[in-house]
Amino acid sequence: MTAADYQKLGEFLRWEGIDYRTDEQLSEHSSFRIGGPADLFAMPAHSYDVVKLVDYCRSRRIKFFAVGRGSNLLFDDGGFRGVIISLAMIDGIERMGDGTDIECGCGTYLGKACAYARDNGLSGMEKLFGIPGSVGGAVYMNAGAYGGEIADVCVSVEALDSDGNTVVFDREKCGFGYRRSAFMSGEFIILSAHFDLKYGNKSDIGSEMTRVVEQRNLRQPLNYPSAGSTFKRPEGDYASRLIDVCGLKGLTVGGAQVSEKHAGFIINRGGATSRDVLELIEKVRNEVLRQTGFALEPEVEYVKEK
Ligand code: FAD
Repeated sequence: MTAADYQKLGEFLRWEGIDYRTDEQLSEHSSFRIGGPADLFAMPAHSYDVVKLVDYCRSRRIKFFAVGRGSNLLFDDGGFRGVIISLAMIDGIERMGDGTDIECGCGTYLGKACAYARDNGLSGMEKLFGIPGSVGGAVYMNAGAYGGEIADVCVSVEALDSDGNTVVFDREKCGFGYRRSAFMSGEFIILSAHFDLKYGNKSDIGSEMTRVVEQRNLRQPLNYPSAGSTFKRPEGDYASRLIDVCGLKGLTVGGAQVSEKHAGFIINRGGATSRDVLELIEKVRNEVLRQTGFALEPEVEYVKEK
């Protein structure tokens, strides 16, 4: 994009009243605390602003990337040449239908949606409590933990398609699988999601949420920046177990380290670069493949500079 293109885009955003920053450090928007500057970082506050902005970028072939809360991303040290569209401000929860359904804006913290369900005596999201990130990111990834996943409760999703139309996906069309959804094809932006919950006992829901969060605190290195589990669970085993038996706990490249507490996490011990993390990921993959025959696939998504 040329300087003139950026100037025009800035004019468009100001005209539409869409907040934006230039040269925004992506480390500020990533749970890994890694990433250089994005040329332009836009923060639309409404779904219709997302529609207009995406249409503007697509029609002018401007590169963009949509982010939720940045808890599963590794941004490049060089940042991003194009537009990062942060969906964090598309935030809101509404009670729907027969009273047990809720609809959440894509940028709503998943934890906020879970807490809302608990406080209203709605059961179904207990196992998801404690997963960082947004509702949109959770739907995109089909986030899950402790035997539950977003697909268990998500009955429909409203998304923007590549032609600029808003389309509704029912559960079947969402194509949920293990850390997989139809939205990964890259042509959709999730605007909101509809969850079907059940009436439950508030204190039971609360106790279950407390239990899963305690498990997280006990097992995960939450005192260091990370993007959660670095690798997907391979068929027939666990990434963390394989990394552990290969003796890779504590393996370090620069500021990045395989957590001593939970081998499935790569943590930023301070000053880690994307290059450190990528190199460490490769070392772990190679060693696990060599020793066990398992080919680990990253769960963390690397966002290239260009
Ligand atoms: P981002 O990281 O911002 O984005 C992830 C992907 O989703 C990107 O491709 C982005 O383009 C896409 N995306 C985001 N929003 C939208 C949207 N509205 N429309 C289209 N695409 C979108 N994950 C689990 O599944 N289970 C866990 O137990 C778990 N534990 C974690 C613990 C820690 C400490 C951390 C840091 C992470 C953990 N994660 C876990 C990973 C992460 O929290 C989830 O993947 C989460 O769902 C990502 O949401 P996000 O909003 O941060 O998405």
